[in-house]
Amino acid sequence: MLYSQQTFLVAGLSRSGIAASEYLLSRGAKVYCFDDVEDGSVAETARELGAKGCVVIHKEELERRAAECDILVLSPGIPVDHPLPVSFKRAGKRIIGEMELGALNLHCPAVAVTGTNGKTTTVTMLEGIFQAAGKKSAACGNIGRPLSSCVKELGEDGLAVIEVSSFQLETLSSLRPHVAVVLNVTEDHLNRHYNMENYVYLKSRLLKNCAESEYAVLNYDDPIVRGFAEKTKAKPVWFSLREPVEGGYPSEGYFCYMGEKLFPVAELPLDGEHNTANALAAICAAKLFGVPNETIAAALKSFRGVAHRLQRVGELDGVNFIDDSKATNVDSAIKAVKSVRGESVLLVGGKDKGYSYEPLFDAIRNSGVVHTVIYGENAFRILGAALKKGYTAVTLCRPFDVAVRVAFLTAKKGQNVLLSPASASFDAFRNYEERGERFREMLNVLTAEKRSGGVLPPAEDGVAEE
Ligand code: ADP
Repeated sequence: MLYSQQTFLVAGLSRSGIAASEYLLSRGAKVYCFDDVEDGSVAETARELGAKGCVVIHKEELERRAAECDILVLSPGIPVDHPLPVSFKRAGKRIIGEMELGALNLHCPAVAVTGTNGKTTTVTMLEGIFQAAGKKSAACGNIGRPLSSCVKELGEDGLAVIEVSSFQLETLSSLRPHVAVVLNVTEDHLNRHYNMENYVYLKSRLLKNCAESEYAVLNYDDPIVRGFAEKTKAKPVWFSLREPVEGGYPSEGYFCYMGEKLFPVAELPLDGEHNTANALAAICAAKLFGVPNETIAAALKSFRGVAHRLQRVGELDGVNFIDDSKATNVDSAIKAVKSVRGESVLLVGGKDKGYSYEPLFDAIRNSGVVHTVIYGENAFRILGAALKKGYTAVTLCRPFDVAVRVAFLTAKKGQNVLLSPASASFDAFRNYEERGERFREMLNVLTAEKRSGGVLPPAEDGVAEE
């Protein structure tokens, strides 16, 4: 790319669009920027980018201005079959993502992590391990800090720890990580990728540039991910919860790597086998970068988890509130249901993503979930799945705040109210963080009401009285 001679259209002015625009400006490129939302914080962002030298494009001039551009930098939030990228494709022009821009200009080694669930947790574990090892590392990509804004700071001697989503993989073609980690592939985002074949294909693209000298850390227990070993030249290094594979596995209560014992599994301060699996993946990647066992053990033993992932946020009248708002698909909610200790009233619902909720109710049957409060836009689809599975311990209650209140009133002392929605948040919130924050606020509201005598307390037998 000859930045100074080319015109770029950056479409979608979220965090990655801002980073891409700033990077391109710093390289002397001519940058047009566009978002089809033109008010509120987007308008403010557009104004700021305009002040830095971008040409802000408005809806009515998009077609004409797009024709002047050489390369489209597409936000991960915009699908590749949107009319704008389709028009670039028809014109034979290049379409990239912000991460591709970062990958093209990255001069240091990278470990890249993808999978349906566990990416942020694993990337955060790895960042902690590498920092403990004294490496100049940065967690970036889908985790929040765009790759293109890290490349300069990382230089040649840094280490990029990149979280890569399926949306980013749509426009990523140059990333060649030294270690590529694929955690799992289960149903998600089918409203965007149409079917599982497409989704699986996108996930496998992370490995496509890897050569024999690179490594693919793959989940042996996941049949889809296991199959990825045949699609890459990278050397497979496995992790498994069940078998002593060539890689990471638990044995006699210890995390092990290729026959070496690291530290007791019980000393990982996170609940759930899925987190043991995430730690195993992190151990494999860290070992492949030469981090000593003691450093890995110390970093993982002090890992405190990430907000909105099975996070205990407080307690009211002996009822624990657990925020797992980031459980935005069925498999992550299943993992929550299986790993939360004790009995729970589960809160599920939100924006539908086109998959079946029935497996969730199979999991609930053998779990500590005693009741499910269903809320949100997809409430009737979830209710349908529950009833199809013969599960009737449900209350349907569409507004989120009321649902949290009902869940609290349903829970007995000693039980949990578990928010693990199995759905996106966009029906009522800007994102899952906002949903998690609202959950915590509702705990505060209920606490205040309780103090002023205005909320029905959880009855000893769990039935709220009128
Ligand atoms: P991602 O970045 O892939 O969305 P996170 O680490 O943010 O993953 O976790 C998202 C949700 O998935 C949380 O509810 C978390 O408890 C759950 N989760 C974490 N790791 C796994 C895993 N390996 N398998 C299934 N669910 C997981």
